[in-house]
Amino acid sequence: LLSVRDLVVEFPTRHGTLRALDQVSFDIGPGEVLGMVGESGAGKSLTGAAIIGLLEPPGRIAGGEIRLRGARIDNLSYEQMRRIRGRRIGMVFQDPLTSLNPLYTVAQQLIQTIRTHMDVSEADARKRAVALLDRVGIPAAARRIDDYPHHFSGGMRQRVVIALALAAEPELVIADEPTTALDVSVQAQIIDVLKEICAERGASVMLITHDMGVIAETADRVAVLYAGRVAEIGPVRDVIQHARHPYTAGLMGAIP
Ligand code: ATP
Ligand code: MG
Repeated sequence: LLSVRDLVVEFPTRHGTLRALDQVSFDIGPGEVLGMVGESGAGKSLTGAAIIGLLEPPGRIAGGEIRLRGARIDNLSYEQMRRIRGRRIGMVFQDPLTSLNPLYTVAQQLIQTIRTHMDVSEADARKRAVALLDRVGIPAAARRIDDYPHHFSGGMRQRVVIALALAAEPELVIADEPTTALDVSVQAQIIDVLKEICAERGASVMLITHDMGVIAETADRVAVLYAGRVAEIGPVRDVIQHARHPYTAGLMGAIP
């Protein structure tokens, strides 16, 4: 579904160029959950941002290719990329307020996203939105949908973000530390709901996290990033049992 080949991301600095991602390559198959782990600064978020065309300047793609179903998406115009975001690739970030606009109700945001990408009436979009909120586990969704984001607790707000990311039925969801800011007890529930809905729809997930325990529970394969490179990649079991890179071996000690 997604293929990243020899991706290089650079930042100009006073002393020359900082190569933040160096020849990063991996694939995500249809319906697959790929976990991505690595220490802080390893390049996980940059990889996600490069895929969805949201690298912040002066960061830039300096080499490699990103393909979605075989078609290049690393060289598209802003307008072309905007149509892919949401419609074909959904996003969930750590902070729900990156995705939710505090000035609009949840209904307004969901309906707008649905109608931007799909040819449905306002009433149908609303029905879809309520069903989706219900599916991600918002109690009394038909009533709560007209609330503003700040009326929801942190965990519920992140469920709303998941609903928004899935609203236009994307084929891939990129989740960057989607539960890091939340209580440990709700983290697993939220990851589970994301994984379940994607599995039902045959959508793929790229799950970025620090937490190897979460990966062990949810991912099919895992890519370990270290200093801007893919240190290892493979089925979670293999990587856990036969860690080749010292960093990965250290990580494995952290699995509960
Ligand atoms: P974390 O787990 O803390 O979220 P990460 O793996 O997501 O870390 P990235 O945000 O992808 O890390 O950053 C990777 C590297 O890219 C950083 O260590 C830094 O060297 C470089 N980088 C990121 N943003 C910038 C920037 N705006 N200017 C210069 N360098 C940057
Ligand atoms: Mg990050």
